[in-house]
Amino acid sequence: MRWIPETLFDALGLRMTYAVDRVLHEARTGHQHLVLFEHTLFGKVLMLDGAIQVTTRDEFIYHEMMTHVPILAHGNARDVLIVGGGDCGIAEEVLKHKAVRRLTQVEIDASVVDFAREHFPAFTGPVLSDPRFELVIDDGMNFVAAPDRRFDVIIVDSTDPHGPGAVLFTYDFYAACKRCLGTAGVMVTQNGVPFLQPDELVASVRHFARLFADAGCYVAAIPTYVGGHMAMGWASDDVSLRALAPETITQRYRGAGQFPTRYWTPEVHCAAFALPRFIAEHVERAKRG
Ligand code: SAM
Repeated sequence: MRWIPETLFDALGLRMTYAVDRVLHEARTGHQHLVLFEHTLFGKVLMLDGAIQVTTRDEFIYHEMMTHVPILAHGNARDVLIVGGGDCGIAEEVLKHKAVRRLTQVEIDASVVDFAREHFPAFTGPVLSDPRFELVIDDGMNFVAAPDRRFDVIIVDSTDPHGPGAVLFTYDFYAACKRCLGTAGVMVTQNGVPFLQPDELVASVRHFARLFADAGCYVAAIPTYVGGHMAMGWASDDVSLRALAPETITQRYRGAGQFPTRYWTPEVHCAAFALPRFIAEHVERAKRG
């Protein structure tokens, strides 16, 4: 039996290791090391550079929370940008919103999308056949630096802040995203697990606070993103969007066709912004600069 370790937290002396039923694909792409394997509990598991990206068993939690929270908080999202998102799991959730007219995904590594086409058809099937979907293979920093239009919602579904993903956690990247956002636009970001990666969250929120009227995060627990709560960064110039009541979100969800979800609900949406004290203290520290 082969065991594959997640090496993301080696520096912390922590390793999750997975018993592999079958390795489906392993390669070094032009940008990163990619391995996909089958696991008894988590199904298909994709790792990039030793970090879990997505599993077929728990993907719904992260994908629903990174999508339905910003889109229903915005309330009138027509143009959406995903930076990263290679496996297309987020794109599949975005396209459930019929009011979304256009979805652009900017992914640096074409082989991740090609690979997802073969191994994650539940995501790529509905996405790649949807005329609203546009795929751009480029570094997200290049795209937002010279955007051809504005977006209502930007979802940064990136790897962690090293290798190709490092630039997606910089002040310059967030400043360029701000220029791409329409008024009352919302940006959300993959921001790690605060218990193990507090500096990642603090650094991003510090940048957000210099650029946006409202900076913070919301949380969800994802079994394969080990270490407790996962933080999703939140940035907007409309301070009211984060504080909408469950009744308002419920109305918007009904208006969006009440598509089925497995984690996200209007109540979970609102509760996700109620941060445990240690995470709230990280956010306050970041906002103090
Ligand atoms: N949900 C996962 C997580 O939280 O770790 C991320 C999933 S998704 C597979 C991450 C994607 O970001 C990868 O496909 C990777 O190629 C892409 N990516 C990394 N750096 C990028 C960059 N600078 N521009 C665009 N895409 C990038």
